[in-house]
Amino acid sequence: MKSYSSHIPPQRTLMGPGPSDVSPRVLNAMARSTVGHLDPDFIGLMDETKELLQYAFKTENPLTMPVSAPGSAGMEAAFVNLIEPGDTVIVCINGVFGMRMRENVVRSGATAVVVEDDWGTQTDLNKLEEALKAHPEAKIVAFVHAETSTGVRNDAEKMCALARQYDCLTIVDAVTSLGGIELAVDDWQIDAIYSGSQKCLSCVPGISPVSFSDKALAVIKGRKAPVQSWFLDMNLIVGYWGQGGKRAYHHTAPVNSIYALHESLVMLHEEGLENAWQRHATVHNKLVAGLEELGIEMAVDKAYRLPQLNVVRIPEGVDDAEVRGRLLNDFNLEIGAGLGAFAGKVWRIGLMGAACTDKNVDFCLAALKTVLK
Ligand SMILES: *Cc1c(COP(=O)(O)O)cnc(C)c1O
Repeated sequence: MKSYSSHIPPQRTLMGPGPSDVSPRVLNAMARSTVGHLDPDFIGLMDETKELLQYAFKTENPLTMPVSAPGSAGMEAAFVNLIEPGDTVIVCINGVFGMRMRENVVRSGATAVVVEDDWGTQTDLNKLEEALKAHPEAKIVAFVHAETSTGVRNDAEKMCALARQYDCLTIVDAVTSLGGIELAVDDWQIDAIYSGSQKCLSCVPGISPVSFSDKALAVIKGRKAPVQSWFLDMNLIVGYWGQGGKRAYHHTAPVNSIYALHESLVMLHEEGLENAWQRHATVHNKLVAGLEELGIEMAVDKAYRLPQLNVVRIPEGVDDAEVRGRLLNDFNLEIGAGLGAFAGKVWRIGLMGAACTDKNVDFCLAALKTVLK
């Protein structure tokens, strides 16, 4: 008879597109004893987690909370709550995650107007404005702040200002941006935003922090058609995650994962949000200098490069899979492959959250140097 034993994973250094390294503090928090999800102790933790998420998003939005599922569920929550069948939504696409947004729009019964830009470049503000002018019926503008498939930062502040000028709500994907680069939900007047636990927050995967503005909440409350997803219907979720008072059972929150998220947010708060952004920028500069010494080129223009996700061109004549395989097997180091149009052409080197350190940069450069020789 086959026997089974505990699984012990290898100790990797995670420098890909996520998950990123989870610190021992967060892993220890996760191992604490499980309490009931309506236990007064847990309810206090829920409130504090929401406060810390407001800090991380720079928002006062009361509807700021973690969705009990990965970033893709946060994405879906934003779309299914704000869209009604027959709506028009402008979707900016310059990578994989913009394409997924479009898919969400279409599946919600709305018409997607696509503003498309080349992979590795920013969404063109003029094109967005043309689309807004051509589609006065548009209700929402949706875009990705930090496109993890290409390493490009879109200009969220300007895009939101433009959308507002044409009376559109905004849905922003901040899965890779939250905690890694400047993001200010209230100052930029973002209406719906979602993120992920496993990128620059360096928490375990499986949770999606979201925030909705009061304007977005009014749209959700005023819907004619019910939200097609029962699980992601914010009208129901607020009864569970809502401010103070009674908490009604909706689903069972992933209690231990919330311990982990809370700990990662406490760490972010201790460091200071702006200091975390600065650390990502400084460590990124060190990586870029080292890569250039190895003759490896960055694929994205400096003006809109993401510090937390470095997309680099695979040098001529180098076997993509072989290099990544040797990094993993010989060095326990994970870097990311290219996706979609970038498959086989680039590597994606993440410097997210706890993985964003000088030590990891030195380690990654030394490993790459050895393998490329
Ligand atoms: C990782 C990622 C997602 C999806 O998050 P999951 O937790 O994998 O579901 C969505 N958008 C962007 C920009 C991402 O990088």
